[in-house]
Amino acid sequence: MAAEESWDVIVVGAGNAALCAALSAAEQGVRVLVLEKATLEDRGGNSTFTAGGFRFCHDGVEDLRTDILDDMTDGEYASIGNLPPLSEDQFYEILMRITEHQADEDLGRILIGRSRETMRWMRKHKIRFIPMFGRQSFKIDGKHHFYGGVNIEAVGGGWGLVDMLVQACERMGITIRYETGLRELIQDESGKVTGVRAFGPNGYENIPGKAVVLACGGFESNPEMRVRYLGQGWDLCRVRGTQHNTGDGINAALRIGARPHGGWSSCHAVQWDISAPPYGDRVVLDNFQKHSYPIGIVVNLNGERFIDEGADYRNHTYAKYGKEVMKQPQRAAVQIFDAKTHDNVRDEYRIREVTKASADTIEELAEKLDVDVEGLKATIAEFNAACQPGDYNPSILDGVSTRGLAVPKSNWALPIDTPPYHGYVVTCGITFTFGGLKINTEGQVLDLTDKPIPGLYAAGELVGGLFYQNYPGGTGLLNGSVFGRLSGRNAGRLAQAG
Ligand SMILES: Cc1cc2nc3c(=O)[nH]c(=O)nc-3n(C[C@H](O)[C@H](O)[C@H](O)COP(=O)(O)OP(=O)(O)OC[C@H]3O[C@@H](n4cnc5c(N)ncnc54)[C@H](O)[C@@H]3O)c2cc1C
Repeated sequence: MAAEESWDVIVVGAGNAALCAALSAAEQGVRVLVLEKATLEDRGGNSTFTAGGFRFCHDGVEDLRTDILDDMTDGEYASIGNLPPLSEDQFYEILMRITEHQADEDLGRILIGRSRETMRWMRKHKIRFIPMFGRQSFKIDGKHHFYGGVNIEAVGGGWGLVDMLVQACERMGITIRYETGLRELIQDESGKVTGVRAFGPNGYENIPGKAVVLACGGFESNPEMRVRYLGQGWDLCRVRGTQHNTGDGINAALRIGARPHGGWSSCHAVQWDISAPPYGDRVVLDNFQKHSYPIGIVVNLNGERFIDEGADYRNHTYAKYGKEVMKQPQRAAVQIFDAKTHDNVRDEYRIREVTKASADTIEELAEKLDVDVEGLKATIAEFNAACQPGDYNPSILDGVSTRGLAVPKSNWALPIDTPPYHGYVVTCGITFTFGGLKINTEGQVLDLTDKPIPGLYAAGELVGGLFYQNYPGGTGLLNGSVFGRLSGRNAGRLAQAG
């Protein structure tokens, strides 16, 4: 390709948000170029590392069978005991509650209101979905009972999602260039964005385009920016996903006067195996996460509990508890289960790459895991004494709780009293950052005076304003799809008009 070849729409990044933006722009009948900093083998950004789980509005499994799950087998259908609907009001209430009522209301309404139609649109592009049988349901009387609002995943998880999106882009005639990263945005004298300056295998090149969609992720993989915005110590966390999301799109836009927006001091971070590598592993994927803590307890190396493990469904607490682990001595914690609940831990606890120990006594477990022995014994004795009787049921908020503890457990509180005991050592793994660019309801990036920067659109992780402090599981991919589709469509229309 000649360096000066001009494009209608340039999409930066090749994760879920970018590929949805590219598809949507191409639907407008324009020529679309996708630039991806990573190699082809390393493509897909954080989206590849996901389980492919989507949260979106629907009326239950019968409704889903009409479109999103149209190829579900009769056997799969028969194995479902309950797959609760999710209404727009419920989703909105969850988003607002979980973000401490900070989420941008307009963006939230778009995210939720267009969630179902966007899933349908993806299905039309041949993205296939199935219920998350393995991770988001408990089996009761042989049937799957789903919970927590994230019940549908892309076939093949994140890998499958990215592969299917790339195939869809190929069908639409979209060009994807790998190993070519955005360095700068190019503007004309009026301020309109007229292309990008990128760095690739042949060095720098200026690529003209009538509109640009930034969808190249947050700054979670940039330790300097993490310390600057998240605080001291955040250089030491593990990164759960791609090493390529270093804030390039955010920084390039800020340099031309874009407005920073959203929760810059916070992020999505989870409990992550302490032996996990610095960045995501494309084989192990998200299996370093340890998300069955609601049916156990979590202690620090002094043996003290520090979170309410049962405050809410896992999907509503996991993204904020990594930050709590970060505050503990040596940024470490141990999840403990006894024989009563251990059979019900998620599949990620059974991988080879796991940091764990088992023992018949609490003393022995503490010694094996370098946890303070007396501290842990005292914590468990106090915890067990505080557990109240009740009807334990891990698939609902069962209200089986402790009473009188400084750090309560509000649901699923069973005494830790049945050997063997199992402990899993975790640290903090960052998923993505919440601070980013400000967009309007058309997906246009706004400047410091809240006016759209002509020709510049954004979608996905690098947009700020939706998530603060915490995050409802399954919304990251949906966010990329809904706003990728919106921004891509508007960028395509602008290019066509110009
Ligand atoms: C382990 C893990 C599990 C997760 N599970 C889920 C889940 O099940 N459901 C869910 O909803 N969310 C999940 N998430 C969150 C989800 O991954 C993100 O919210 C979502 O994928 C972000 O999509 P995106 O397209 O904005 O960014 P990404 O998918 O990260 O894509 C950004 C792309 O931009 C590229 N890039 C970066 N800089 C440049 C540059 N300068 N020039 C060109 N390209 C560049 C990157 O290489 C990357 O390909 C998970 C995240 C992780 C890490």
